Amino acid sequence: MATHHTKMLIIGSGPAGYSAAIYAARAMLEPIVVQGLQPGGQLTITTDVENYPGFEEVIQGPWLMEQMQKQAEHVGTRMMWDTIVSVDLDSGPPFRAIGDSGDEYIGDTLVICTGAQAKWLGVPGEQELGGKGVSACATCDGFFYRGKKVAVIGGGNTAVEEALYLTNHSDDVTLIHRRDELRAEKILQDRLLKHPKISTLWNKTVESFEAGEDGALHHLVLKDTQTGETSTLEVDGAFVAIGHAPATELFKGKLPMDDGGYLLTEPGTPKTAVPGVFAAGDVTDHVYRQAVTAAGMGCMAALDGERFLATLEEAREAAE
Ligand code: FAD
Ligand code: NAP
Repeated sequence: MATHHTKMLIIGSGPAGYSAAIYAARAMLEPIVVQGLQPGGQLTITTDVENYPGFEEVIQGPWLMEQMQKQAEHVGTRMMWDTIVSVDLDSGPPFRAIGDSGDEYIGDTLVICTGAQAKWLGVPGEQELGGKGVSACATCDGFFYRGKKVAVIGGGNTAVEEALYLTNHSDDVTLIHRRDELRAEKILQDRLLKHPKISTLWNKTVESFEAGEDGALHHLVLKDTQTGETSTLEVDGAFVAIGHAPATELFKGKLPMDDGGYLLTEPGTPKTAVPGVFAAGDVTDHVYRQAVTAAGMGCMAALDGERFLATLEEAREAAE
């Protein structure tokens, strides 16, 4: 069991973590990234990425994350294949974190980039058809269903926004909800219910996602929650929009969070309530949830961390 010390400890290796690492390494902070169970983050479970700036052609999510990791290593980041299981923010800075390996990580600053995971229905076909018709992100994948028939599952703000967004690409959008009343804000409900390209299926749950002969999604099997009757709906794309879960279990009782468990930061900055501890990416963002926004926040966290350390150093020198 070893102890690793760094000026900037970054937990998480998605776009936020790698971007923070690139900036921190170039500022000579000798960052450590603890990668977690999903090195590269959420983009490693998708295929085509078409909205990350800098690439004329469609790129692959896993490839993009491999490039980010290599770039971060090239400029001097240490990658650790470990998962943080506990943190001590009370006595810092420096802040202490313990890995699943038993190793101890000590960071003069801490950048939390643990991301979030889309919630899934957990029904047959859902995972198998991921990237072949089933998605949890209309902004990411809606473009691939231009002129096709799509469905959105859920009744909250996200589902309604996803359905409205999809009308930019499809003339045939069906919102499927398990009740007959939406949870979404009234203004969004109005827009949805008036929209000529959107129809609704109430009191229906998705029992399974079924593939066609080409191996891609062909139809959904639905069950009526009132009558128990089953039916099918042919679609080319289905977007599961039943919420996201931020990976913030580690920070419960240690950092302020909103009702959904997202870390709260000072508006417009990645600063948490604990000086020297920053949060970037999906772990603090339930609105945008994009690779480019996560990367931008990672950059901001590293820059703010560098300033924080410079201020500490100035105070130390002044005290001497
Ligand atoms: P994440 O990518 O969620 O990474 C979190 C990281 O934290 C992981 O490396 C994980 O291992 C690590 N971690 C978690 N807990 C711990 C711990 N305890 N210790 C150590 N490490 C930990 N966005 C786009 O812009 N374009 C797209 O086309 C696009 N397509 C998508 C397709 C899919 C299927 C999905 C799921 C998402 C897609 N997104 C897309 C959204 C995008 O992936 C996310 O917005 C982005 O990855 C968020 O980055 P992040 O760095 O905040 O966190
Ligand atoms: P949410 O508000 O929790 O809504 C989740 C929806 O999915 C609910 O309608 C729920 O149904 C349904 N659902 C959950 N589990 C299901 C299952 N297993 N099977 C079928 N349906 C299921 O999640 P969200 O829409 O992602 O929003 C999360 C938070 O972000 C909210 O606070 C929201 O206001 C906020 N948000 C805000 C904006 C905005 O301000 N523009 C945009 C997006 C999100 P029930 O209704 O029956 O429970």
